[in-house]
Amino acid sequence: MSDCLFCKIVAGDLPASLVHETGNTLAFRDISPKAPVHVLVIPKAHYANVAELGAADPALAGDVLATAAAVAEKEGVRDTFRLVFNTGAAMGQTVFHVHAHVLGGGRTGFGEV
Ligand code: 5GP
Ligand code: ZN
Repeated sequence: MSDCLFCKIVAGDLPASLVHETGNTLAFRDISPKAPVHVLVIPKAHYANVAELGAADPALAGDVLATAAAVAEKEGVRDTFRLVFNTGAAMGQTVFHVHAHVLGGGRTGFGEV
C-alpha cells in the first residue's frame, strides 16, 4: 500500500528505530512512547487490523506474536508486558496497518484497571 505509513517503514522509505526483524515481521520503537518499553510489531504484509490478519493468515498472526515475545525478551520485560492491538478508530487505532504495541517497564496509560 503506497500511502501506508508502516508499509513505507517496511520499504525503507521512512526511517524507524528497529528493534527486531524476521523474514515476515518487523519491530520498531513507537515514535511517541507511552511506556518505558513501547515497541510496535507488524507483519511486513499489509493487513488493516488484527481481525483481517487473523482471518487471512493465522500463521503470520502467530509470527507477529512470536516477534512480540522476542521483543519483550530483548527489552528485558519477558515476563511482564502488555500486548495491545487497537482495532477501529473508536478504539484508538490511528494507523491502519495492523500492529501490536509491546508495552512494559511501568504503567502504560493504555487503560489498565
Ligand atoms: P494506534 O493508535 O494505531 O494503535 O497506534 C499507532 C502508533 O503509531 C501510535 O502509538 C503512534 O505514536 C505511532 N506512530 C505514528 N506514526 C509513527 C511513525 O512515523 N513512526 C513510528 N515509529 N511510530 C509512529
Ligand atoms: Zn501497510
